[in-house]
This record gives sequence, C-alpha cells and structure tokens, in this order.
Amino acid sequence: MRVIANDENIKLAGSIIKKGGLVAFPTETVYGLGADALNPYAVAKIFEVKNRPKFDPLIVHISKFNWLEKLTEKIDEQALKLIEKFWPGPLTLVLPKSEIVPDIVTAGLKSVAIRMPSHPVALALIDSAETPISAPSANPFGYISPTTADHVEKQLGDKIDLILDGGKCPIGVESTVLSLLDEPTILRPGGLPIEEIEKVIGKVKIQTKSEKILSPGQLQTHYSPRTPVKIFSSIEEILDKRIENAGILLFKKYDFEVKAKHVEILSEKGDLVEAASNLFSALHRLDEAGVDVIYAQEVPEVGLGIAIMDRLRKASGKKIE
Ligand code: AMP
Ligand code: MG
Repeated sequence: MRVIANDENIKLAGSIIKKGGLVAFPTETVYGLGADALNPYAVAKIFEVKNRPKFDPLIVHISKFNWLEKLTEKIDEQALKLIEKFWPGPLTLVLPKSEIVPDIVTAGLKSVAIRMPSHPVALALIDSAETPISAPSANPFGYISPTTADHVEKQLGDKIDLILDGGKCPIGVESTVLSLLDEPTILRPGGLPIEEIEKVIGKVKIQTKSEKILSPGQLQTHYSPRTPVKIFSSIEEILDKRIENAGILLFKKYDFEVKAKHVEILSEKGDLVEAASNLFSALHRLDEAGVDVIYAQEVPEVGLGIAIMDRLRKASGKKIE
C-alpha cells in the first residue's frame, strides 16, 4: 500500500516496523527499504524482498544521538567532529559495533554503518518506530536506486507492507560512506563531497577497487569464518564422517541427534528467512567453538537460499569429496 507521509500514516508505518514489517520511506538521498535493525528476522526479509543474491552490510538509520552510544563500542574525537558538522545528513560512518547489533545487519562484521538522515519523514518514522531502522535502497537487486515513491511502487509495490510517499528525494544519490575504524577511508563516494569531510578531519583515504576485491583487514566488507568450511548436501554424507571434533551447520532439524562437537541449526522448520537471519551468528559461534572443520549443509537455492549459498561457498571454496 502506498500512502502520503502524513502524521497518521507515519505512526502506522512506525507500528509496522515495530511488528517486524517492511516500510519504504523517503530520505534526503534515496528511498530506503526499512526494517527494525534490532530484529534479525525482519532484516532478513529485506534481503528476500530485494532479491539480492548476496548479503551486504546495511546502514542503520537513527533519529536521536543517544542511539549512537547504544549501537557502537567507541566514538572517537574525529567521529564526534564529523557528527557535529554533518548529522543529520548524507554521511554514513562505519564504527565498531556493540553487542546489540544483529550479525545479519553487518553481514557478520564487527563494525556497523550508521547515519542520521535529515529528511523529516525519515526522522519522524524512526522516532515513531522507537528503534533504529536498517535500510538499503528500496529497489530490487540490479535496478537503479529509487528517488520517488513511484519508482518504489513499480519495483517493489506488491512485496512490502507500506510505502510512505514523501515526494522526490532532494539529493538523489546515496550517502557517502566513511570508515573510521582505522585511517579514515571513504568506502563509497556519495551525497556529501569528500572535500567537505577533509575540511573537518584532514586528508582521507579513498578505497580503491583492488582494495575492495582484496578486502584487507578493517576494510573488509564481508565476514568469513577462519575455520575451514566444507559444504555437504545430504545428511547421510555427514553421518559417514568422523565428526567428533567438527562443527556442523544444519539447515533444519532432524528427528535424530547429530553427535558433533558443536551443532547449529539455521531454522528448525527449514524456513529460509529464519535461516538467513541466523546464518552469521551461527557461523560466528561455530568459528569460536574450537572445531577443526565446519561442515555446512546446502540449502535450497531459491529466494534467500541463493544469498545463503553465496556466503557458504565464499567461506568454503569447495564441496567435500
Ligand atoms: P546501501 O545499503 O545500498 O545503501 O549500501 C550500504 C553501503 O555501506 C555499502 O556500500 C556497504 O558495503 C557499506 N557498509 C555498510 N556497513 C558496512 C560495514 N560495517 N563495513 C563496511 N562497509 C559497510
Ligand atoms: Mg543500493
């Protein structure tokens, strides 16, 4: 449903977000597809609706400064200067994440991207939802970012709970993403010119294409476990192996016990959205369980299963013989 972004409808949108639904809303950059950033199942639905073949970390949108402390581990002097100067506005900061940020929001990374948008509808929606809202652009994978409610309706209209129509987005390009994890580095140029940032904190690095591909250290935009991962398809394959010291990542629950050192079940009933919402936390737990190898079960490659398998293949490289 598409509605005009008046007070009453913003309230309705806020209640949809609170209940775990999806709302498209205007920001000064582009329309966002929002979900409660603290609800992993709601966030998994964003990936499903966008039909993304892979998981990317999402930007968390806040309307009040006190959320910044709750979502991050550390805010340094540079971050404070930039926030004072450019928030609310088209600047996203990547900072060390706190415990409360679900792994699916950050694609398993220990950092979180945060922004305070300046669009009054976006701010009112976040206030009304009383929770930070994670939102990528409200378009299906491979389509251009929407800058009107019309674009959103045409591309995603039947897949989301509500579209708040707040007219045309004034800036029309995405936010500038700046990592402050180490040396300040632009991860994505956008609505706030780099020169403006440099006036406040001095020269910043610009991430090059090759750095993006290599993803070294803190510039990493994806998480993979350090423990070797091997993919298997049927449960029988695993029962034939010596798995006392292995970790097992199961898609669904079986009516017999799998006796390994550590077992994680992505979704008891085999629901792909639930599986996606648990994927990164399950991988983290397996990685920390001190196992020699992680055997990860294939999931059906439809809907979110495509993104789940993309992540598992990146983590593994090959199937078990
Ligand atoms: P979009 O969701 O299309 O607005 O894009 C969000 C951008 O922020 C992408 O370029 C992400 O890779 C980047 N991003 C979000 N979170 C992080 C993070 N924790 N570390 C690095 N980059 C991030
Ligand atoms: Mg996008």
